[in-house]
Amino acid sequence: MRNLIALFVCSCVALSAGAANDPEAAAAAKLAASVSRPASAMVPLAPAAKKPEPVVRKAEPAAAPAAAPEASEEDAEVALSAKIAQRLAALRERQQARAAAAARARKLAEAKRRQEEAAAAAAAARAAAPKHGTVWSYEGETGPANWSKINVDWAKCGTGNRQSPIDLRDGIKVNLEQISFDYHPSSFSEVNDGHTIRVMVGSGNFITVGNTVYELQEFHFHRPSEEKINGRGTEMVIHLVHRSVEGKVAIIAVLLERGQPHRLMQTIWDNLPLEKHDVVSPSIVIDPSDALPERRDYFTYMGSLTEPPCTEGVLWMVFKQPMQASPAQMALFSRLYPLNARPVQPTAGRMIKESN
Ligand SMILES: [Zn+2]
Repeated sequence: MRNLIALFVCSCVALSAGAANDPEAAAAAKLAASVSRPASAMVPLAPAAKKPEPVVRKAEPAAAPAAAPEASEEDAEVALSAKIAQRLAALRERQQARAAAAARARKLAEAKRRQEEAAAAAAAARAAAPKHGTVWSYEGETGPANWSKINVDWAKCGTGNRQSPIDLRDGIKVNLEQISFDYHPSSFSEVNDGHTIRVMVGSGNFITVGNTVYELQEFHFHRPSEEKINGRGTEMVIHLVHRSVEGKVAIIAVLLERGQPHRLMQTIWDNLPLEKHDVVSPSIVIDPSDALPERRDYFTYMGSLTEPPCTEGVLWMVFKQPMQASPAQMALFSRLYPLNARPVQPTAGRMIKESN
């Protein structure tokens, strides 16, 4: 009996060591502990003050009644061992269930960790991959300060040191040769491209600067003017973009201030497409000469496109004399594009020449 109980106690201690919080294991251990106590301990001790038993004793029941307790102790032992076995089985079952649950939890945690690692690796790969975004604007996240981060091909917007526009000041006054214009009434199409109103002009309109001939490709509008002269801009500007057969770009800027209606602008406004990115091709013609001021004095410097990809090597010519557009014509554009101008860029020691 003692051996059996001791074994059970050991099992319970071992089992409950793995699950200190298991109330059933604790109860089983308690039960085992109580039955393993010496028999004498289970008999209430006689109070110390109690008088000795009377000397006179009944006759000892001797051997005959002794047989009966022995038999009942055996029964109790059997019952107890069955109970212990039952408890042990239940405990093992619970232990196994707990172990299985712990294994499941470990497996789940491991799967989650792997998933998180894979997600982090994918994010890192995405961050490291070259970006080829196409969405840019004049404000906020996709604004001029971030253009170079949107697309790897737009790096010059951030790192270039010959960027446009600039504040034109301290120009070297020289006898600049006149730009030779060979513009004609031409067919055209126009689009609201999400950044400006752009007017594509039919072929056959040329300028000659130095010995290079450039053909007019398109013109478009900014509000306010991108370029400044001695720190001052105007309400709007027209950029006339030309390209040589070798692919060199020359842009003429004509500043616009409030005043009389602008004839060419009115024709463009009259034919505005209803939807962004729709290209309309009216059946009338325009004369790009209407975009030029009377006086042809100008500033010139080497710069860049003022929108992504900010390509450098662009020959800029900015007329000193502004043209005029009416407040209503200005207001119409500002409803579409209240702000579509890149801020001025560092001159970075570039030479600026201007007509005497
Ligand atoms: Zn422009």
